Amino acid sequence: SIVLPKFATVSNLATLLQVRFVDLQQRMQDMGYSDTDPDHIVDDENAQLIADEFGIEGQVSQSHGDDVYAQPPPENLAACPERPPVIALMGHVDHGKTTLLDYFRSSQIVKGEKGGITQHIGAFMTNLRQTNRQVCFLDTPGHEAFLKLRQRGANLTDIVLLVVAADDSVMPQTKEAIKHAKAAGVPMLVAITKIDRPEANIEKVTADLAAADVDVEDYGGETQTIPVSAVTKQGVDDLETALTALIEVIDARAPKYGNVEGVIVESQKLKGLGLTTSMIVRRGTLKPKMPLVAGTAHCHVRQIFNENNKALKEAPPGTPVRITGWQDLPEPGDTVLQASSEDMAKRVVANRKRLIQEALEAKQVEIINENRRIEH
Ligand code: GDP
Ligand code: MG
Repeated sequence: SIVLPKFATVSNLATLLQVRFVDLQQRMQDMGYSDTDPDHIVDDENAQLIADEFGIEGQVSQSHGDDVYAQPPPENLAACPERPPVIALMGHVDHGKTTLLDYFRSSQIVKGEKGGITQHIGAFMTNLRQTNRQVCFLDTPGHEAFLKLRQRGANLTDIVLLVVAADDSVMPQTKEAIKHAKAAGVPMLVAITKIDRPEANIEKVTADLAAADVDVEDYGGETQTIPVSAVTKQGVDDLETALTALIEVIDARAPKYGNVEGVIVESQKLKGLGLTTSMIVRRGTLKPKMPLVAGTAHCHVRQIFNENNKALKEAPPGTPVRITGWQDLPEPGDTVLQASSEDMAKRVVANRKRLIQEALEAKQVEIINENRRIEH
């Protein structure tokens, strides 16, 4: 068996599999791949399926083929268009996350974008007031998807916006959030909220943050702390300015073309819609009728909705959407990949299920053997 790299060009793959390039190309076309140019990049999932076709056992580079979403090769990224950055709001309960989001979100409502009742899809898109720049807020960041992705070493988010109440300071969930932001390796910005409260103590919060290993600006570090009040609106403009500066630094980009890739945020069965998921598109442009795979579920995209329940004809990178058409429910944090055909989507899912089953059986055998050793 051979170990497959995360990415290989079709010509690399031919070398790896020790087959003639033209034979590989022909086989791939028979399998339903439309792009078989020598420079076309194949991820390890697809490479494994192709290796299977040649009777070669290909090991994906990580665990059972449901690892992190594929990053585009870095050298191409700079040439890609900007995408809305994904900002996760994190912090201790009741410290003012939802209130702050409502503030950011109200700019949409003010602009008269009436979409009726807002659906909870765990993420929403809004335009910042000062720059009109589009951003995607992830509003349930203690969120399963966030944690699961982190375990896999991938990031759903580009920026963590940490919310700490000035009258309560650093609490257990604040520390958790700091840990996540550090592990994810993404920049953090701190909003010290509720500064209108009589018990507010901004200096204490800053000191507690420094003690909790945040390299706060006041102590010579790089993490900005912005005091705000959602009640008096004091500081909210400064917060937006700081956020905008960070957004410029991270310079989030993604290709709008090519195979779609995304991350599942939530999975739900909904009355009238069937099996649905919310997801954030990471690259490519999601459209109805696309065949998708996520975890051990596949989807023939029926409808795409934004958080205002508006049906979309397409969703470019950085867009949070709800989609319908799943045959099964994938899990939060699962990577969504576009398949070349519905048939291919089914095969990928069958292949993954088989790998999981095999791993499970191997584990059972291991346990049985272990128990035998203990018995004797
Ligand atoms: P979350 O649990 O972090 O989402 O916190 P919420 O946004 O639900 O806020 C918890 C409570 O704090 C609510 O009663 C808010 O009205 C209140 N709150 C939030 N921000 C402020 C603020 O800046 N000043 C004051 N005085 N109260 C606030
Ligand atoms: Mg809340």
